[in-house]
Amino acid sequence: MKIEILTIFPDFFRGPLDYGITRRAREAGLVEIKLHDLRAFAHDRHRTVDDRPFGGGEGMVLKPEPIFECIEALNISPREERLAQKEKESVVLLSAQGRRFDQAEAAELAQLDHIVLICGRYEGVDERINDFLADREISIGDYVLSGGEIGAAVIVDTVTRLIPGAVGNEASTRQESFTAHAELDSSNGPSSTCVSGGLLDYPHYTRPAEFRGMAVPEVLVSGNHDEIRRWRRRRALEKTLRNRPDLLEQMVLTKQDKDLLAELRAGTS
Ligand code: SAM
Repeated sequence: MKIEILTIFPDFFRGPLDYGITRRAREAGLVEIKLHDLRAFAHDRHRTVDDRPFGGGEGMVLKPEPIFECIEALNISPREERLAQKEKESVVLLSAQGRRFDQAEAAELAQLDHIVLICGRYEGVDERINDFLADREISIGDYVLSGGEIGAAVIVDTVTRLIPGAVGNEASTRQESFTAHAELDSSNGPSSTCVSGGLLDYPHYTRPAEFRGMAVPEVLVSGNHDEIRRWRRRRALEKTLRNRPDLLEQMVLTKQDKDLLAELRAGTS
């Protein structure tokens, strides 16, 4: 996969791309990440990339010319073909007004061959970039960042770890929070002890079993895998109910899950 990032601060990415899974995936040739400095596409003496907004208002807006020229210099298919999903390519505009990014969209992007990420700054980018260049407008959450770079780093990280071979144990990315799992049996719940099945992940513990008087839950050292599976499911349900009850509305729940949730809601569990 090739990911290209358009930014006025290419140095910002020194760091986020150089550690852990992203670094290893780059070194293994699973993902190639290229940075493009938008100022290189500005033609005046001062390399101006921004201007005042038409109609008045606060702040500056990133001009269309450098972004259009930069995209045109990349080997990417026209917007209509990308929208029709004829090619496995996408041009993404990072924007607080975009559709909120989630694990499902990360999985969708991980299927592509070529992703271009456009990072806005100041009050944002000229809207013609959204209308005529980008085929997706993505927000990483309901808050306003100073620039799209952090959002681009978030997308690179979440997508890269879903590329086959990027994470040592590939099964682990299918067992994490937000990841619905095909092996979830609708009557018995998860088929394995390590599947969260669309819920938030269950709590994890490691050695030592007793640390400063804090012991790990006994069930986890019992060796009883049925008990462990039930305990993890209960804890995942509990955490999801507490922190993200909205996820429960979209999920297939087993009868056991529903009974447990009723107990948790009633405060009897
Ligand atoms: N005026 C814009 C608004 O009110 O929606 C905010 C512009 S923000 C200060 C500058 C740039 O940061 C945006 O063009 C976008 O690229 C990026 N940005 C800000 N918040 C973001 C978010 N939640 N997700 C993704 N990118 C964001």
